[in-house]
Amino acid sequence: MIELKTIRVKTPQREILVDLTSEIARNISESNIQNGVCRLFVPHTTAGITINENADPSVKSDIITYLAKLIPQRAGFKHMEGNSDAHIKSSIVGPSLEVIINKGKLVLGTWQGIMFAEFDGPRNRKLHIQIQGE
Ligand code: ZN
Repeated sequence: MIELKTIRVKTPQREILVDLTSEIARNISESNIQNGVCRLFVPHTTAGITINENADPSVKSDIITYLAKLIPQRAGFKHMEGNSDAHIKSSIVGPSLEVIINKGKLVLGTWQGIMFAEFDGPRNRKLHIQIQGE
């Protein structure tokens, strides 16, 4: 069995990690799939998705702050839109993830959360969730 859902993500600032773990978990529990895999795909070129610590919020801000230090917004890029830093950060973080589903639940480590990575907000974004299993 396979199901595709699309959720909307409203990001509040230019660069931020938004924890979507509970919303993704809710979409899985609302599906008819108990065991299988959940594929997450971000259909944007200046955003991404990653898994990291959701217990201490300073981890999220450290990731954003350090990526901004590595890739400054203005560094003589050629791209006319002025958001090359966001395109580069998006490629580093990546557009997709795969998470195991067991007995209707996401299999994550104790401290892990699934974060939507915004690098050129605030915007209205989409996240595709493909749930495959039985
Ligand atoms: Zn651009």
